Formats: sequence, structure tokens, C-alpha cells
Amino acid sequence: MAGKTNPYKAALAQFDAAVSHMNLDPSTVAYLRSIRREVTVTFPVEMDDGEIRMFTGYRVQHNSVLGPTKGGVRFHPDVTLDETRALAMWMTWKSALMNLPFGGAKGGVSVAPQSLSTNELRRLSRRYAAEISLVIGPESDIPAPDVGTNPQVMAWIMDTYNQLKGGGHTPAIVTGKPIPLGGSKGRFEATGMGVMFTAREAMKFKGIDPSSATVAIQGFGNVGSMTARFMHELGTKVIAVSDVYGGIHNSDGIDIPKLIDYVKQTGSVVDFPGTEPISNEELLTMKCDVLIPAALEGQITAENAPRIQARIIAEGANGPTTPEADQILHDRGILVVPDILCNAGGVTVSYFEWVQGWQHIFWEREEVVSRLEKAMVSSFNATLEQYKRTGLSMRMAAYTLAIGRVAEAFELLGVFP
Ligand code: GLU
Repeated sequence: MAGKTNPYKAALAQFDAAVSHMNLDPSTVAYLRSIRREVTVTFPVEMDDGEIRMFTGYRVQHNSVLGPTKGGVRFHPDVTLDETRALAMWMTWKSALMNLPFGGAKGGVSVAPQSLSTNELRRLSRRYAAEISLVIGPESDIPAPDVGTNPQVMAWIMDTYNQLKGGGHTPAIVTGKPIPLGGSKGRFEATGMGVMFTAREAMKFKGIDPSSATVAIQGFGNVGSMTARFMHELGTKVIAVSDVYGGIHNSDGIDIPKLIDYVKQTGSVVDFPGTEPISNEELLTMKCDVLIPAALEGQITAENAPRIQARIIAEGANGPTTPEADQILHDRGILVVPDILCNAGGVTVSYFEWVQGWQHIFWEREEVVSRLEKAMVSSFNATLEQYKRTGLSMRMAAYTLAIGRVAEAFELLGVFP
């Protein structure tokens, strides 16, 4: 269900709009707009029945001025080079906005992972890792989970990298690993927790009491389901959720812990007892205080933006709002907590995991959670200050802050040679 807008065009349009409000040297702008390195790999995987199938994957490193490039790996049929480029660029701004010592990257394979057996998925993950092993590294480019990948896939990527490098042990090569292999406590749920923290701060700013507010969530993968859990724990009523198979609605609030168990058993939110079916479009435009798109790009468009009734949109997904829709939402006074801020909890705890991996000292969950909350609230407040000071949208406020930081670092470094 990727939208019609090319995500890379949208990412460039957002960048161009942001720099039009800044006073940057044109050569700095040209540099920041460019992608440093992109690798396309086409590789064979043996299926369980002996057939050999070819797959295409990517790793794109947008910018590494602030540190090693960082970003997830997506397994989804709609993965393209342009989508991966957009996601890599968004990672650069996200890391910079969060003051993390990382640049931005993204990877992906065009595949429907649910259609593979566990053994096929393992062979595909390991072969993809081998193909990109030339460009990744614990000090150069560090993968993590994204749509369609999970801690198990990270374990395979880490082990493949380590085997190819002589069988050593380099936990900092990936983040989002299983905890027994050096993963961080709190990483699995970090993105959803961060979405909740920023949605909570946005409600505070808008004078909405979270304990009497309502929220609708599009998507029930890792980000959507964990966001639902933390919004529910905050006391906010989750009145609608959806996944690729359909949506459900109950205006009195859905019992999220029970729904998470139900999804574990059935694989979908559809037909959860005590709810009515609802379409994707109905969910996006329903009456609620907070709308959380937590699926894919291009969901909030010029077509549906005029009908959105939420007062706050908290972007759990990357790139869910097209640039045309953004303008409409801004004109309508709907507060958008932009993706590079809202969903930055994942990469923030990835940073904590990377630090723990280097030190071989592991933190308790409470420490992870309290550092995450501090980081999310502080970046939310910095963005809100910029928004109030400049009159720009929250997205442009976040972009101008983030781009300004990367630009400053670039100018300090200068150009090699
Ligand atoms: N895939 C996540 C994102 O889009 C996390 C990236 C990471 O932890 O490196 O932010």
C-alpha cells in the first residue's frame, strides 16, 4: 500500500523546502542533497524445494559527516532504490535531530518475508548480509531492524559479518539484536515508546488531557503495536487500529494487551471480539484527538488531508505524509509531530545498544527507558521552540535544526583532499 508519490522525490522536496528557510552556502546544500554511496545487489537464494530464486537488495549511505551511517534493513515487496534513498536521507536528519553521532543509511530487499519459510528467510538474510558486507561495519555503517525484519534477522546479519571477518565477535555491527546476543534491553519496544513520549508532549502543548483523549493507529507491526501498548498504558483510549488485512474500531476503547495476544495467535487484528470492522480510509479520517500512521509512506495525501479530523498527527512511520498533504495540514492547524522526531526512539536506543556493544557493559531497562524519555522530550522541546520562534511547521522546524547541525559539521570538516 505504498502511496503514489515517489518517497525519494518527497524527501528531496522536504529538504529543498527546509533549506529555502535557511541561509546555507549553495555548495553545502548541494553536498547535503547528495547520496554518498549506494549499492545494488542481486543474489541467488535456494528455496526449500531446490529452486534457485534471484532477489534484489540495496544499501544506501546518504551522509556520514556526523558519524558512521545508521539505519534499518527493510524486507518488503515494495522496496526500491528510490525508497531506500529516501529512508537513508531521513535517517541522516533523524540522527542529527536527536544529537546522535551517526549519519544516515538504509537497506532493503524486495521480498515478502511472510511468503518464505524460516530456513529460506535465514538463507536470504545471510546472503544479503554477505553481499553488503563490503560496505557495512561497526565504525562505518550499522544496520538495524525496519519493516519486515526483526531481532532474529539481525542475529543472522551479525553472525554472517563476523564469520566473513574471520570468526571474531563484533556486537556493534548491528543493533536491534536479540538480548542474549548483546542486544539492549528496551530496544524492541523503543520506537513505540518514543512515539508515545512525543505524542504525550504534543497533547500537553495542545492542552489535551491524555487520560480523556482518543487515538487511532494505522499499522500493527512492531511500531504500531508497541505504540498502542504505551498509549494504552498512558491512559489514552485506542479507538481504532489496522493492519494490512483490515481495521477494527470500538469508540469505548480497545483492550490492547488482549489484542496483542490475539494477533500473536491469529496473525491479524481483523475480527477481534468486541470491535467493528473499519476501512483504512475511515481510520485515517475518523474523529479522534491523535492519529498515528505507523505503516508505510504516502498514506496521508492531498486527497484525504482535508478530511482528517485529528488535532495531532504523530508519525510513527517514516514518510507517511506527502509534501502536498503537509501544507494542507499546516494550513488547517493540525500539529504534525514529524517522523524524524516522532519515531526516533528506535535509533536512539540503537545508539545505546551500540555504545553497550563497544563497552561490553549492559544497562538495566530502567536506565534505557529514562535516557530515552530524556532524549525524546529534549528533542521535542527543541523542535517546538524552533516552531514557535520561526512560525514554520513542526516538520520544517525539525528539518532546519537537523540540517543546520549536519551543515555545521560539514563546514568544520571541509572537503577531502
Ligand atoms: N528502522 C528504524 C528507523 O527507521 C531504526 C533504525 C536504527 O535503529 O538504526 O528509524
